[in-house]
Amino acid sequence: MNVEKFVEVKNLRKVYDNGHQAIKDVSFSVKKGDLVCLLGPSGCGKTTILNILAGLLNPTSGEILFDGKSVVNTASKDRQIGYVFQNYALYPHMTVLQNVMFPLTVGKDKRPKDEAEATARKYMELTQITELADQKPGQLSGGQQQRVAIARALVQEPKILLMDEPLSNLDARLRLKIREEIRALVKEVGITTLFVTHDQEEALSIGDKIILFNEGVIQQDDLGQNFYLEPNNYFVANFVGNPVIDNFKIKVEGGKIVGSNFELNISDLDSDRFKRELTDGEYWLSVRPENIVPAESGHMSAKIDDVELIGRERILKFNHDGLQARSLVDLEQPIKPGDQVNLKMRLDRVFIFTPEGERVY
Ligand code: ATP
Repeated sequence: MNVEKFVEVKNLRKVYDNGHQAIKDVSFSVKKGDLVCLLGPSGCGKTTILNILAGLLNPTSGEILFDGKSVVNTASKDRQIGYVFQNYALYPHMTVLQNVMFPLTVGKDKRPKDEAEATARKYMELTQITELADQKPGQLSGGQQQRVAIARALVQEPKILLMDEPLSNLDARLRLKIREEIRALVKEVGITTLFVTHDQEEALSIGDKIILFNEGVIQQDDLGQNFYLEPNNYFVANFVGNPVIDNFKIKVEGGKIVGSNFELNISDLDSDRFKRELTDGEYWLSVRPENIVPAESGHMSAKIDDVELIGRERILKFNHDGLQARSLVDLEQPIKPGDQVNLKMRLDRVFIFTPEGERVY
């Protein structure tokens, strides 16, 4: 068994009939039993990849291997995949039990009725919908329908589970609860899972690793924490993080970094963190709001325009060179709108990007 590369995608491309290049040379792999999140903004190609893996869509070129075997020419129904769609796609005229049993009552996986029912009931137990067995989907809440869809996807005991934005129809509180349940469930079953979402917090909270896409290209394939600590480029730094990262326009000249209201020496930075030499020119200096905080003597002085409470913390908002910037502080911080404060950056936690988005520091 190929544990490290249980799912392997190599040089995948998809050009739709209208000429749109949805996927551009994408390669990644998924370890057996992992829950991997495919993350990215709307239109970046997440659903296209899932549909190609499921065999619902043909790639233009590239290779897909499940457990070391190519499946590009394998029909969808023979790929041993469970698919949970965004809208659940339950059969409205069937009961919950009939919905969950359905995959075992048709096609080549057809089983004797009592065996099909016993297997269905096992997965209904796991997804906690046993007591809903005789109800119809129209009588269920969104969260309950979601569980039925997951039980139905698992009932054939597939090798791989694909989930496309499975939580998007649920309210905020239920999303938090169900995402924890999904993680616990797929870990209990031990199934290798690819989970599509555009919500970075969702991805960070449940993914063993995250693959972040933009415009059909992988931006970073990594453990969640590295999207914060070591973003590959400007897009990643700006896509991940809440509140969003602050971006300051800077000019580098003669060993100095000059922003609109601060100045640093290149020698103040941690020499080990440079990806390459910081040559003279224009760049972005980006810092996460938790790494630019009030201090007696700071790198810059700013007038706070607004203070927003987010749970246990406050966001101090200020204007920098026409762009809004943020500092994340404790709830107890007494700073009010209109206050002038000194802000200090953690220089071992700032990033420097070229205008094209390449990371330099
Ligand atoms: P969302 O989160 O909005 O579902 P996504 O990341 O899943 O987005 P895809 O649905 O994979 O994105 O679409 C990727 C790109 O391909 C988009 O620009 C989309 O408009 C385009 N696209 C999708 N399906 C087709 C199609 N059948 N023909 C042409 N273009 C398509």
